[in-house]
Amino acid sequence: MISIRKTEMRLTPQRMAILEYLHGNIEHPSAEDIYKNVKGRYPSMSFATVYNTIEALKKNGLVRELTIDPVKRRYDPNMELHHHMICMDCNKVRDVHIKLDINVPVEQLGGFYISDNHVEFYGTCSECREKNIKKGE
Ligand code: ZN
Ligand code: MN
Repeated sequence: MISIRKTEMRLTPQRMAILEYLHGNIEHPSAEDIYKNVKGRYPSMSFATVYNTIEALKKNGLVRELTIDPVKRRYDPNMELHHHMICMDCNKVRDVHIKLDINVPVEQLGGFYISDNHVEFYGTCSECREKNIKKGE
């Protein structure tokens, strides 16, 4: 379960349902994805509740907003440092768990201390590559 200790979040059943859906979720869902899924079990769920809950989670450092998908903002409950790759055909976003040491030349740093990095990889997923091969592309 996403740890909500030390946060000021009021936990309503609707919010609990959103947390449950996000917990361990590696699909990087958008607000619409979350809404559609949770609405099935909680018909009283409003999009505003989903939006406000995401904002509260973000503010409390419990969810990370991803801008890798040009179509929609996505959310990741995994706050551990990791990278992402997106399929430019189907927009699927997957995790990449590697430690990347990228050397930025000193003259470009200008005294800046780099503590982290987050790399976005673009390409084509295996499913889309197979489809493309069958289509003869
Ligand atoms: Zn794909
Ligand atoms: Mn991720």
